[in-house]
Amino acid sequence: MILTTHILSGAALGANVQNPWVVAGLSVVLHFFLDLFPHGDYLNKKSRLREFWKVAVDLTVGFSIITAAIFIRGLTSNDGLDTRNIAVGVFFSLFPDATTFFYIWMKMKFLKPVKYFHERLHRQENGSPKREFHFKNNLWDILISLVSLIALIVLH
Ligand SMILES: [Zn+2]
Repeated sequence: MILTTHILSGAALGANVQNPWVVAGLSVVLHFFLDLFPHGDYLNKKSRLREFWKVAVDLTVGFSIITAAIFIRGLTSNDGLDTRNIAVGVFFSLFPDATTFFYIWMKMKFLKPVKYFHERLHRQENGSPKREFHFKNNLWDILISLVSLIALIVLH
């Protein structure tokens, strides 16, 4: 899934679970669970380092949306919002994809089992047409992002 989807779902989890350790653990599990849903990815095994601007755009979009959502939530509720737990949720929701980066680009070979497990969760093969990044392949990203956004803003 795109990083924006992971950022929003981790933030929603952090906003609604009290214990930061539970947030951290559940965020990693949630990442792997969400990767089970069919989705396209804008990077694949043939991607070059110069395509990583897409990651920067994705992160910027994700962080901009949660910043706006936290602001809106602050206006519409007077509960003490735990931004620390949101940060923990976002960090640990992104962490599994960071391990892929460490494995491939920083040659941390000990992460191979994690990379293998992570890849196996994707039922369509890396580089196949069903893994292309476009609207029709990424409807789950859109739906999960919207549900997460509602959970982040509305649930208390
Ligand atoms: Zn992933």
